Amino acid sequence: MTPPRTPVLAVIGGGQLARMTAQAAIGLGVPLRLLAEGEDVSAAQVVPDTTVGDYRDLEVLRRVVDGCSVVTFDHEHVPTGHLETLSAEGHACRPGPAALVHAQDKAVMRARLDDLGIPSPRHALVTTLEEVDAFAGSVGGFPVVLKTTRGGYDGKGVWVVSSASESQVAFETAAASGARVLAEEKVDFRRELSALVARSPSGQVAAYPVVESVQRDGVCWEVTAPAPGLPEERALEAQRIAMTVAAELEVTGILAVELFETTDGRVLVNELAMRPHNTGHWSMDGAVTGQFENHLRAVLDLPLGSPAARERWTVMVNILGGSHGRLSDELYAGYPHVFARDPRLKVHLYGKAVKPGRKVGHVTAYGDDLHEVRERARHAAAWFRGDLGEESE
Ligand code: ADP
Repeated sequence: MTPPRTPVLAVIGGGQLARMTAQAAIGLGVPLRLLAEGEDVSAAQVVPDTTVGDYRDLEVLRRVVDGCSVVTFDHEHVPTGHLETLSAEGHACRPGPAALVHAQDKAVMRARLDDLGIPSPRHALVTTLEEVDAFAGSVGGFPVVLKTTRGGYDGKGVWVVSSASESQVAFETAAASGARVLAEEKVDFRRELSALVARSPSGQVAAYPVVESVQRDGVCWEVTAPAPGLPEERALEAQRIAMTVAAELEVTGILAVELFETTDGRVLVNELAMRPHNTGHWSMDGAVTGQFENHLRAVLDLPLGSPAARERWTVMVNILGGSHGRLSDELYAGYPHVFARDPRLKVHLYGKAVKPGRKVGHVTAYGDDLHEVRERARHAAAWFRGDLGEESE
């Protein structure tokens, strides 16, 4: 039997997720071909075989995937129809369009989770202010949460409204992009959790420890692995939900299930992502096999690596561009301090221009003592943001 040849993997989208996928691909010796939005975006800086073009253009997609064994993604915005065409033309899109649509369209996702009996916040599609009023009435009143069904990210496309008249902006935003508006009860949550699994086309699944994620202004801020104080049966339930969704939707690659842990002890699904996810960045340094490597192994249908944590606690804090930081435009200048202070710290910078609130990197600390690990990670991220003055040393 002839041994399999090294495949070429096409990655659509040139953000930091593609960049860190490329980092894992280097380790595995797998060549990547990238479709990037611009010649200097995060992943284009490190992938020599880069095409700059528009992922909404089918001809551009065809050119990039030609000769590649597998196609995977940095984001979920490639039009479903284009992916169906590429699949029909024989390209292995992983995840495939039938799975990915559940990460692209929140209404499709909610309907499917309902069919599978997986718990979501109470929800309804709404088309008028009267329907928003009626929905609020059915869930005990305002405030309720409105979301555009497509196109939202990092909290853009999500509104908490206290009256029907505040809903206008949601309808206008949705209409402008041909999306619909989904109303959800405002969940009284204790915290947000995330359950990540990798699934291969053969059906092998690896489940990462369930993590706690803290969001600020709709953007992931800090992740703790495993989620502190999470009862084992609730962690198992979260993992079971993620494994069920991955299997039923036939997801290939990483699936992240964002969850709410409610104040009365239930877990409800917030949303799905079918790609490496910010709540899995801790695993690059904190798990035996990081999410980017397992994403590659999964989409290439190779046996998956252990998702087990290396140490008791791992804390990841995003480096977001600060608005006033002394280091804000030169992140490299933060290295002498953070590395000298903490030789066990890991830092990942994405090569992105620093703008207020933009994700430009992350830090990871791990160890036995949660309090100490958190302090180390928080200090380093704050230092890069420029939120610590000389006096705090
Ligand atoms: P995006 O697709 O932009 O990431 P999400 O649906 O994840 O949007 O919502 C962003 C944030 O808004 C969530 O992380 C959560 O903090 C809050 N949120 C979303 N839906 C609800 C809800 N039904 N109840 C309470 N808070 C919510």
